[in-house]
Amino acid sequence: MVGNRWTATTCPYCGVGCGVLARANADGTADVKGDPDHPANFGRLCSKGSALGETMSLHDRLLSPLIAGEPVSWESALDKVAGTFRETIATYGPDSVALYVSGQILTEDYYVANKLMKGYIGTANIDTNSRLCMASSVAGHKRAFGSDTVPGAYQDLELADLVVLVGSNLAWCHPVLYQRLVAARKERGTKIVVIDPRRTATCEIADLHLAIAPGSDVALFNGLLSHLTATGRISPRYIDRHTTGFGAAIKSCNALSLDRVAEICGLDKSVISAFLELFAATERTLTIYSQGVNQSTSGTDKVNAIINCHLATGRIGKPGMGPFSVTGQPNAMGGREVGGLANMLAAHTELANPDHRRIVQTFWNSPRIADAPGHKAVDLFDAVADGRIKALWIMATNPVDSLPEADRVRDAIASCPFVAVSDVTRHTDTTALANVLLPAAAWGEKDGTVTNSERRISRQRAFVGLPGQARPDWWQICEVARRLGYADAFGYAGPHEIFAEYAALTGTENSATRDLDISAFEDISEEAYDSLQPFQWPQPKNTSRTESRFFAEGGFFTADRRARFVETRYQSPASRISPKYPFVMNTGRIRDQWHTMTRTAKTPRLMSHIAEPFLEIHPDDAAAAGLGSASLCEVRSPHGRAVLRVTITPAQRRGNVFAPIHWTAQYASEARIDVLIASRTDLVSGQPESKFTPVAVRPYDAAWYGFAISSEPAALRDGLAYFAKAPAKAGHRVELAGSASPLDWDAFANELFAPGNNENDEVLTYRDARTGHYRYARLRDGRLESALFVSRQPVVVSRTWAAGQLGQRINPGDRLRLLAGRPGGNVPDKGPIVCACFEVGANEIATAIARQGCVSVEAIGACVKAGTNCGSCRSEIARIIDAHSVPKAG
Ligand code: SF4
Repeated sequence: MVGNRWTATTCPYCGVGCGVLARANADGTADVKGDPDHPANFGRLCSKGSALGETMSLHDRLLSPLIAGEPVSWESALDKVAGTFRETIATYGPDSVALYVSGQILTEDYYVANKLMKGYIGTANIDTNSRLCMASSVAGHKRAFGSDTVPGAYQDLELADLVVLVGSNLAWCHPVLYQRLVAARKERGTKIVVIDPRRTATCEIADLHLAIAPGSDVALFNGLLSHLTATGRISPRYIDRHTTGFGAAIKSCNALSLDRVAEICGLDKSVISAFLELFAATERTLTIYSQGVNQSTSGTDKVNAIINCHLATGRIGKPGMGPFSVTGQPNAMGGREVGGLANMLAAHTELANPDHRRIVQTFWNSPRIADAPGHKAVDLFDAVADGRIKALWIMATNPVDSLPEADRVRDAIASCPFVAVSDVTRHTDTTALANVLLPAAAWGEKDGTVTNSERRISRQRAFVGLPGQARPDWWQICEVARRLGYADAFGYAGPHEIFAEYAALTGTENSATRDLDISAFEDISEEAYDSLQPFQWPQPKNTSRTESRFFAEGGFFTADRRARFVETRYQSPASRISPKYPFVMNTGRIRDQWHTMTRTAKTPRLMSHIAEPFLEIHPDDAAAAGLGSASLCEVRSPHGRAVLRVTITPAQRRGNVFAPIHWTAQYASEARIDVLIASRTDLVSGQPESKFTPVAVRPYDAAWYGFAISSEPAALRDGLAYFAKAPAKAGHRVELAGSASPLDWDAFANELFAPGNNENDEVLTYRDARTGHYRYARLRDGRLESALFVSRQPVVVSRTWAAGQLGQRINPGDRLRLLAGRPGGNVPDKGPIVCACFEVGANEIATAIARQGCVSVEAIGACVKAGTNCGSCRSEIARIIDAHSVPKAG
């Protein structure tokens, strides 16, 4: 499929769902650009989306089915999966098998997976990693609206006068929405409030930042509802006509005085008052929330506390106003639509509703229908651990790293009698435990649809052929279903037929009683599916619906069509903190990585921004704990341990620390953050608490630190206390540390670089016994093959520059500089990369500020191009400008 034709598809990363134009190159990469016609991004892409073309390589791709690590035919692998499922069900019943799927799979994959499990096998034991992302939003929506409906649209970002961001680092986690907001703010002066315990990159555009105590959101929004009522800013008309339960909700909120709200939130009363008044006074208010709200034991209450304020003011479903959940994953919404959670049925029907079960079973003409909820993600792996689930099929996700108490999950999977894993990647921490591995089609190879956070359904389209024996997930499920005796119900000719069936189900016995209706597409042909343009649901048959929002005039999906106010009570999580575990650990994403890095770690460009796992900590806490900048620390909880690089920053609240979620055992020695997190969940949604883990932090006693670069991957010996690997442009880089120094550093270096060594190489070394510095460089024909920099303190070398020397000719006069790890005075040193698109480093930006007088992000862009493509780094550039600005006299 190499050629000049651009294919319109959708980015596979976050829930923004940006349109992408892609074109395959002969070298296995692809050209990628934003689709100017896609209504989610209008041509914009963030750093991750822009780098998609660099992540297409077949390196470490799973390209053949494997049983016990040996290549087998598809027939054998599918027979094994189906046969084991059949025998297990026959012996132990349908609830002894389970599927654990992912917000990465397409709606068509999700649809057939649910149909097989709930309609044919007869168990609801199918859940998804989306449970970890937004289950609290689903539960909150259903409690308030009677349906899992996102009322608004992205356009509201441009129509709001006030945007409140709660638990959302939009700048890094939904960068294109952030760029839309930045543009709107410039255009119409939109006020922006960020509610987040951390001062994140998003705070660069905030008029007000409420660095609330972790977990205090419910108190804040209950205080807001009380304030709105007391100051007469509610809408009695909307409350009377379209809601119930306001009296009880306000009664529980009024018990909280402003003083008490400020005390709980850990903020000055004036800051709280400023927010309450700004919200109260601004009709066009949009409240965007994300994982900071959802990933909590009170996540559903947080969602309802926010929704209560919008219902009370009638600010919902109208231009520029409403509560707005933005999802983490590219197809979390599509999964919700087709019943991807263990407590739902397809097409927004309810498992607990007998009438809905009848509708779905009749439509599917299935022999049975699950009539009890299955295990939600955390419970599902408990059921694997205690043997209730004996055959497990994991699809497109890495639970060994992403579920709480991850070591316990790893042990549970290892002890399961049968585990099949469908994946794109050969080596992950989860594929290592599989009995059967099934090679899946990757982004760019598969066809189907995804739904983004604003209910917009877009096509993902293939623009390269299937490599090796990789096959789409929907095909794998249908083949297993066929072997289980359900060939007639799963005989689809392609994803277009699955989509048409799903569309028809949404309209079956609906008559506007359910929010989700796309029956306009029930007869879609393959050609029409191929050319399907992005659209927002609902799209019922025989109507020309143009309204893209819900609930401006009520019409909720409860029995009386009224919304429900939910009584939400603040429950303090503070009692979980103890002298043994005095810090609260928050977790989240970083700008240029995605999930467990199986795709984003393939490109050096995305690894150049942050190349190793870290712990952010406040300067006072770091000093008290004896942690030096860039040293290593050990983080412990009752469930596990991690070793991370220390990043000292006043952006953290005292007593709070932050760690990224991405690193796995494939990339770092001990940085699987979920090993630390308790499997405590929200009682309503089943979503785990990933934002509030009591931990202990202390220095890691490293005898030495090292930084290595090499053309071939380094051989990391067992017993290394710390490593963190990343790709470099012409090879690899790795951070190292040890608890005892090797007796012979030359031998250590030779062993480290053994995979690429050649006996004719020229080796340069330098050692200073007094300082503990050791340097090693290996040259082949005058070009750098590998280098090692060692110190008793964290190694201070210019990493970007040093990594850039790999494969370069090193002139005799430059060899001392190479061993020093720094360019000479006349050679520019980029410093750490800030702008991934144009690979502009912090030093280059600082130079532009100092020498060219650049005092704005735009001026930096004009000078060194940083921030002029995807814009994801603009907030960091602003921070560098601030740090270099000279206070005005007087
Ligand atoms: Fe992809 Fe970035 Fe758009 Fe998210 S914001 S869909 S990661 S390009």
